[in-house]
Amino acid sequence: MNALTQPKHIIVTEVGTRDGFQAEPVFIATERKVDVINGLIDAGVQSFETTSFVSPRAVPQLADATEVMAQVQRKPGVRLTALVPNARGAERAAAAKVDMMACFVSASETHCQANLNKSIVAALADVHEFTPIARQFNIPVRGAVATAFGCPFEGEVATQSVLDIIAAYHADGVRHITLGDTTGMATPPVVRRTVRAIQARFPDVLIALHFHNTRGIGLANVMTGLELGVVEFESSIGGLGGCPFAPGATGNICTEDLVYLLHECGYHTGIDLEALAAVARSVQDWMGKPLPGQYMRSGPRLKRSDLASVRRAVG
Ligand code: ZN
Repeated sequence: MNALTQPKHIIVTEVGTRDGFQAEPVFIATERKVDVINGLIDAGVQSFETTSFVSPRAVPQLADATEVMAQVQRKPGVRLTALVPNARGAERAAAAKVDMMACFVSASETHCQANLNKSIVAALADVHEFTPIARQFNIPVRGAVATAFGCPFEGEVATQSVLDIIAAYHADGVRHITLGDTTGMATPPVVRRTVRAIQARFPDVLIALHFHNTRGIGLANVMTGLELGVVEFESSIGGLGGCPFAPGATGNICTEDLVYLLHECGYHTGIDLEALAAVARSVQDWMGKPLPGQYMRSGPRLKRSDLASVRRAVG
């Protein structure tokens, strides 16, 4: 990057309000959710997986999807996506005026059964059924591939299985794909071979990467994604998250840690990092438990400590 080139813009999609809040054992009050989303929009976050229009019986934590969508601030340039599992969900999401619908299918048959209670073929049939509804309302659809980098039940996931799901999405007009690392099994080499295979076969598809930090290398995987030209990453504020249907799943990579990394590497996000960290601290405060995010504790790299306040080692 030199003075003549603009810093490259990276889209940071906040998924904590869906992936994170869904994983909490208790229902988080609608006004709290709305406050978090509004605070993040004020901090400059422009893309959200806001909530989910799955059956409230299946995911009671997000039963207030319609209310959340009605109450959050709407700002030009801010994209509020919601998860949609089927035609019924698509109708509710369209009525709630989402900017984008997201669907997901697991690349592993066992995880698909455990997570969606249906086969990959049946899940893709649901997508095929609801995409015309999205089209009718002119709402773009994002197709997520869960367990794209490995499955806690089946182990290695063949790149071909990922390509097959994307091919089905593509045939339904989907051009935004998210590769979900549901249980943190991605590594830089796995990310490289998977993303490269998709870029080669589907050059018109925009890839977003969704990493969990289960094994501590979520941000290393982001660096690999950046090298491959990926311009969108999903993360959650404070590192909230997990997948209730996948054993051992821990939080997403942390939004403020991700933004810190991106800014230090010279990328542009449009996000005010300190305002973002303040939102993370407030979420941690009202949740009443430490969240995994690290930037919110440490602050800027060049922050100067006051020498007088540092306790000296004695002896
Ligand atoms: Zn996730």
